[in-house]
Amino acid sequence: MILVSSCLLGLDTRYNGKNNSNDLLIEYSCYGKFIPICPEQLGGLSTPREPSEIIGGTGKDVMMGYCKILNCKGEDVTEQYVKGAKEVIKIIKMFPVKAAILKQKSPSCGSKRIYDGCFKGKIRDGEGVAAYILRENNIPIYSEEDINRELLEELIFNKI
Ligand code: SF4
Repeated sequence: MILVSSCLLGLDTRYNGKNNSNDLLIEYSCYGKFIPICPEQLGGLSTPREPSEIIGGTGKDVMMGYCKILNCKGEDVTEQYVKGAKEVIKIIKMFPVKAAILKQKSPSCGSKRIYDGCFKGKIRDGEGVAAYILRENNIPIYSEEDINRELLEELIFNKI
């Protein structure tokens, strides 16, 4: 099984109530190997919701208690993000998950880049909270920027 950010599969889970629909992922969803996850919803945040960013750190810093996640109104939503990441770990213990395909730049799902915490659309290197905790649990992580037919077929048809 492969965890996939639900917004990439066309589910309207984004902060603004929309999605990041990815045609290739939707095409390959017919094989029944994808588990859609939205860590922010799993953590109890509503949809739509205010956009949030990690302030002065990365997902690892959040999980270590070194920094917080605030929404654009300045409200602390760290607890919900941490809860969402922990719920994702419950899922990988329930199912034979061998990889995750996560939306880049999200404070939860970003695997290489995230917003920098200034709410000005700027990006920094680093991973989100759910991506960090999945990587720590030895789940290989890809983003929508990494995937192509060859990789999806390798993942879906057990070549990896
Ligand atoms: S938390 Fe992840 S799955 Fe949910 S909307 Fe954001 S990027 Fe998509």
